[in-house]
Amino acid sequence: MYGIVLSRRDFREADQVIAILTAEEGKREYIARGVKKITSRNTSNLEPGMLVSFGIAEGKKEWSYLTNVQSVESFFHFRQSLPTLHIIGYSLDALLAMLREGEQDTEIYHFFISYLRFLDQQSAVKTLLLDAFLIQLFSHLGYHPSLDACVVCEKSYKDIGLEFLSASEQKPGFYFAGGGVICASCKKEKQRIGESIYPCGIKEINTLRFLLASSWQDVFSFSLAEEEYKLVHKLIYEFMLYHSERKWEDWGKISLLMT
Ligand SMILES: [Zn+2]
Repeated sequence: MYGIVLSRRDFREADQVIAILTAEEGKREYIARGVKKITSRNTSNLEPGMLVSFGIAEGKKEWSYLTNVQSVESFFHFRQSLPTLHIIGYSLDALLAMLREGEQDTEIYHFFISYLRFLDQQSAVKTLLLDAFLIQLFSHLGYHPSLDACVVCEKSYKDIGLEFLSASEQKPGFYFAGGGVICASCKKEKQRIGESIYPCGIKEINTLRFLLASSWQDVFSFSLAEEEYKLVHKLIYEFMLYHSERKWEDWGKISLLMT
């Protein structure tokens, strides 16, 4: 089987538990025997973020053991860049936290490989790639933000835009509980009854649509003013917090990633 190593942690005296993402079995944990011994041939092939091939020997208890681990792509290039390693570390954490154990998902597997390959080819990195990765990941996992119309009254995105153009106080918003964009009048109504609406302008909606639909190369080439980046980043970050049980570090505040 082929798979991407997501994490490794010590287990018993000389072994490690390795989480691997494969097209066939999704995210699953396996035991690598003796990897803590310097002589083990498997050690250097099991770094998080590596694409490996491996065999499995079923153990007596619930564990499966890795056999014959070979490196297929080590992504040597991005391992030289600390900012890129940070972005990959964050992405690996998100996959570990959000994917369900043993749930087959071929798309996520290929999605992640394309991301690693793209990052490996770049000499510089942009935080916006991580924003795009995370919103695409959440969208794929069933939290696709609804951006085509108001999630309450179904007013079209175009009409919401026209409304805003004719009167700038007609600003839409983002309604997390409803899963997407909300028009200015529904926003007022929701706020009146005490529901919280996240501030979100037409530009952020446009950027979000772009990030959801674009290739890594297009995201990388996209230029966004600092202020606009901050707004859309904050929206993605809050969206992610809303849909996960974990408190995530704000990747927009990791100084190493500031460009
Ligand atoms: Zn509405």
